[in-house]
Amino acid sequence: MTEVIALPAFDDNYIWLLRRDGVSTCVVVDPGDEDPVIEYLEAHELTLSDILITHKHGDHTGGVRELKRRWPDARVCGPAHEPIAVVEKKLREGDAVALDELQLNLQVLDVPGHTESHIAYFGNGLLFCGDTLFAGGCGRVFSGTFEQLSDSLRRIAGLPKETLVYCAHEYTLANLGFAKWVEPENTELLQRIQDDQRQRARGLPTVPSTLKLELATNPFLRTGQPAVIAAAEKWAGSTLSGHREVFRALRQWKDRDYD
Ligand code: ZN
Ligand code: FE
Repeated sequence: MTEVIALPAFDDNYIWLLRRDGVSTCVVVDPGDEDPVIEYLEAHELTLSDILITHKHGDHTGGVRELKRRWPDARVCGPAHEPIAVVEKKLREGDAVALDELQLNLQVLDVPGHTESHIAYFGNGLLFCGDTLFAGGCGRVFSGTFEQLSDSLRRIAGLPKETLVYCAHEYTLANLGFAKWVEPENTELLQRIQDDQRQRARGLPTVPSTLKLELATNPFLRTGQPAVIAAAEKWAGSTLSGHREVFRALRQWKDRDYD
């Protein structure tokens, strides 16, 4: 069985490391910093077969050059349409990444919005979604558009509910605080806040979450729910129609008044 290990980096990033018992190679996702990866690989006598990148930001790519210097055989995979000099295998919608030693085949999904050509990796019930969907929230719109991010989240919402969501940051408690502004009476949300607070108090990650939990508590995946629409309309001061308009209002509300 493939194991997914969280390597904390910087203040709140997670670098995900995929390994399998008895296999001497491993894979990392979004190594913004080389140090935690080098430390883990040396401690466990592993080598690196692949580096998977979701988007161009430095906190997801900054460690690649040094990792590649140490493990020259590692294949660097990333989005075809973002300017990332270190990427060798350029990926787009419909491609797959075969991680033979881990017996894992990951599909590439185009999920633009946070950046113009952000991708996600999905397979075996695991989703590595970078800064597109977060536990309890979603990424900001930087070099993509609100419409793109709304559509990308709709797409992720359609994956199997038991999918484990491996996002790239520990932003969960702050995100859930905003979720509570939107849906103060959502009982699953209130329960989640308690559970995740307990988890953080023990120093443990709140990630991965499940898509099922996100669908029940994350306002950015709930843009079709009457309570969420009503809250977004109240903030916007106008009628909103469709997922994209509700999404834009929620994202702007959080950007302007919460963060
Ligand atoms: Zn980012
Ligand atoms: Fe990031």
